[in-house]
Amino acid sequence: VDFSLGHDADAVRIEARSFLAEALTPELKARMHRTGTHWNPDFTQRLRERGWIAPGWEEEFGGQGWDPLQVQVLAEELRFAFAPMYGISTTLTAASALRHLGTAKQKAEVLPRAVRGEIVIALGWTEPECGSDLAAAKTRAVRDRDGWRINGQKMFTTNAHVADYIFVLARTNPDVPKHDGLTTFLVPTDQPGVEVQELRTISGERTNIVFFGDARVPDSYRVGEVDKGWSVMGVALTYERTYAHGADSLRLLRTAETWGESTIDDAGRTVAEDPAVSAEIGRTATEAEVALLLGRRTAWVAETGKLPGVEGSMAKLFSSEALVRQAESWFGLLGPDAVRCSTEPVGEPDSVEEMIRFAQASTVYGGTSEIQRGIIAHRGLGLPRSR
Ligand SMILES: Cc1cc2nc3c(=O)[nH]c(=O)nc-3n(C[C@H](O)[C@H](O)[C@H](O)COP(=O)(O)OP(=O)(O)OC[C@H]3O[C@@H](n4cnc5c(N)ncnc54)[C@H](O)[C@@H]3O)c2cc1C
Repeated sequence: VDFSLGHDADAVRIEARSFLAEALTPELKARMHRTGTHWNPDFTQRLRERGWIAPGWEEEFGGQGWDPLQVQVLAEELRFAFAPMYGISTTLTAASALRHLGTAKQKAEVLPRAVRGEIVIALGWTEPECGSDLAAAKTRAVRDRDGWRINGQKMFTTNAHVADYIFVLARTNPDVPKHDGLTTFLVPTDQPGVEVQELRTISGERTNIVFFGDARVPDSYRVGEVDKGWSVMGVALTYERTYAHGADSLRLLRTAETWGESTIDDAGRTVAEDPAVSAEIGRTATEAEVALLLGRRTAWVAETGKLPGVEGSMAKLFSSEALVRQAESWFGLLGPDAVRCSTEPVGEPDSVEEMIRFAQASTVYGGTSEIQRGIIAHRGLGLPRSR
């Protein structure tokens, strides 16, 4: 087994670090922190100039054909720096489903704009009554002349307030088993039938509640066949769940190390010399490495041309739960210092207190830990579904 990432991936890391040191200004981070919106058109434009929005996509779709390890290394660096990437992530999750299952017209119209960062697509899946059990969606889509009318409500629709489209999971047939009566649509947000309401979360992230009141969508924006939306979701969810939080653990580790080396105790020693602190540094560093390796394994599975289902769930499960444990430990060790940011008064979001809240949310979005454990046991190990 060769654990080195190779020359090309190493070169990406060096270039990404130098780019981020210049492009990700404290003001940009402070703005993201204040608004809770992790999408910035200027920063996205800078990424686009380098072809870094979807560098792993084939050139015919506007990518650069990078191998998955190069893509993974870029993602690690963007995440470590806490760059505004959520708008790009939700857009690419939806666009990836279109790349597999969209019509030629949809691909031609949407994919180039997605890869150029010109549009944002939000994910309208969760509802007030269903999140883990997405197949129970109640939002209705009914035929209306040459298109569809959508009525219902979605919850936690991150980026909907800056989105051009919402990738909506809707019920088209209520009279069949729940998985069989769903269809997915790309609903344009620029219409009176779509109302977006702000929702702030414990993590500091702004998300939204979206109300659809007779929203219109042409049939040409239906993704996949009518009543076959669950198979579209199978592809989209696999892309959503490939994310690992190793770089977030590294960011926490950097904060802890800085604190340990710069804080002096009553005996005149740095707190990093305290055995409890150095033990936690060793533990966090090891868990961060495991999380990064699980993330890279997911990238490697993608490189072999497969969809990394169980591997993505393992990476997401381990890395998010490890982040919670680490943030809680560091919170106890730092005490009152846990609420400080390194760049006060600009307010870079790197305090341990902020990380503790962020970590909690990381175990929820993209499928909760219980759901990921179920996927690993059922799909990975072939055990029966839990009741
Ligand atoms: C910050 C943030 C951003 C988000 N962004 C988006 C977004 O952009 N688009 C979107 O559609 N959604 C988004 N979500 C929603 C997210 O995916 C859901 O919150 C998540 O899937 C859980 O659904 P729920 O909140 O309805 O909880 P529920 O499904 O009601 O779960 C409640 C509890 O029951 C447990 N549980 C449920 N079913 C089972 C089971 N079968 N076995 C064992 N335990 C179970 C869960 O693990 C959880 O602990 C976001 C959420 C957050 C917090």
